[in-house]
Amino acid sequence: MLIAVVSDIHANLTALEAVLADAGDVGGLWCLGDVVGYGPQPNECVQALQAWEPRLVCIAGNHDWASLGHLDTADFNADAERAALWTREHLALASYAWLKSLPQRESRVRFTLVHGTPREPIWEYLVSPAAARDNFAILETPYCFVGHSHLPFICREGEQNNAVFDPATPRRPVQLDEQRAFINPGSVGQPRDGNPDASYLILDDERQTVEHRRVAYDIALTQQLMSAAHLPERLINRLSHGW
Ligand code: ZN
Repeated sequence: MLIAVVSDIHANLTALEAVLADAGDVGGLWCLGDVVGYGPQPNECVQALQAWEPRLVCIAGNHDWASLGHLDTADFNADAERAALWTREHLALASYAWLKSLPQRESRVRFTLVHGTPREPIWEYLVSPAAARDNFAILETPYCFVGHSHLPFICREGEQNNAVFDPATPRRPVQLDEQRAFINPGSVGQPRDGNPDASYLILDDERQTVEHRRVAYDIALTQQLMSAAHLPERLINRLSHGW
């Protein structure tokens, strides 16, 4: 079965729709959190994911929790805080209830799913070999999908407790082998690796391969909706540049 693995949609429905169209006829959708926050269409993104139930697996991210008031937005930078408060104000009751129901972690056969890391599912960024090593030590499955950094990569466990990060090459399937790995599909709604195209991946669970993909979407449309909602200028501009 093919499964689309997405993360960090951040209320960018236009990007999510482009990704789902590109994924085509997949058998499941796994989402690694941050469904909302930053972007202009939180309720619509929740509904788009709900339409995939029961083929959907979705976990919570820090921005989902911020929109629920589960964590203090004082830890966010000023623009992120403004966007989180906007999201909190505009979240429908049904979206609130659904986001509140999301678990912090899930596992499916050989895969753990978290937003941050197995150690700190909501908050920790898995971006350094040190963080990867510490988390390999407590990882209970061979592979783990993570989001949160908005950076697409595969990080394999090497010899002598080493952890090696490889940036993802789009449209090139990678075989998962005996080496354990953390895999980040990148961000659908706010890529931060210098490429503004939406990022996600396809897992083929029979062949045990992952294929990162990039998809162009109508960035200007999302930006218009953000302007109309008076969301911060910096958050609007960054979508053009992918940072
Ligand atoms: Zn995020």
